[in-house]
Amino acid sequence: MRWGRFSGSSSGRARSLIVRVTICDVGPRDGLQNEPETLAPAVRAELVNRLAAAGLPRVETASFVRADTVPQMAGAEEVVAAIERRVGTEYSGLALNDKGYERLAATGLDRVNFTLAVTDSFTRRNANQSVEEAAAAAAAVIERATLPVTLTLSVAFGCPFEGRVDPGMVAELAARFPSAEVVLADTIGVATPRQVHDLVERTHAPGVHLHNTRNTGYANAVAALEAGATLFDASCGGLGGCPYAPLATGNIATEDLVYIFEGEGVETGVNLDALIETSLWLESLLGHRLEGQVYRAGAWAGD
Ligand code: MG
Repeated sequence: MRWGRFSGSSSGRARSLIVRVTICDVGPRDGLQNEPETLAPAVRAELVNRLAAAGLPRVETASFVRADTVPQMAGAEEVVAAIERRVGTEYSGLALNDKGYERLAATGLDRVNFTLAVTDSFTRRNANQSVEEAAAAAAAVIERATLPVTLTLSVAFGCPFEGRVDPGMVAELAARFPSAEVVLADTIGVATPRQVHDLVERTHAPGVHLHNTRNTGYANAVAALEAGATLFDASCGGLGGCPYAPLATGNIATEDLVYIFEGEGVETGVNLDALIETSLWLESLLGHRLEGQVYRAGAWAGD
């Protein structure tokens, strides 16, 4: 395992830490955007504050898209204004174009996340563009951006319209954005560990955005870690579903990911108990059980 070294013991206790990963909690944006209920900006800001207080090094706070297209994300500026900035947490937001970027930058957020889908069919349906057109538009907006940029490549493993995606094509696209931090997204949750390992290795992408739609999300996260990924998107409680499989779960749950990583000797900087409290609070707020398992099972103090 690339991230760990054993020094004479096979128990795992003696493994020296050589990697600290960055988990970005996308619950306030990607999670809540895919929940049927719309939470008020003040409540979304409280979620951001709770996640930051739990030690999350990065939180995706808001989406700067038109409120008529994504009502769950209305009032992005209000959300950001209500955040109590915590040292050690980077606050990011999603923008899809220049206008969104300008709005985001005006709020004082630390980082912008753009997305680019890697197949023509997906891009046509979402943005009425070819991948080439969308990539050119993304390059232009990234070029002008003064904030650090994350570029999420959607449907990087499989597309609901085109099926399996050619890894070579994803690698070629990723290489076009050397100034951006690239995140490979399994948007519909179809990847398996070897595919994730190989694509991370091939693209040198630092980040992955994994879904647990088919129960492969956590195995895929460990595979990405082994291949050298250091940035992991996840949402508290596994908040948010999958738009292409309405009955299924979407994002992997942050506390479940923290549990695996810490158990494997990888530092996350996240206080698991505080995170579990946050997911229990969210569950009561949304009035339904969330998809994560660790927040219900509890952190285990053994070992
Ligand atoms: Mg997602």
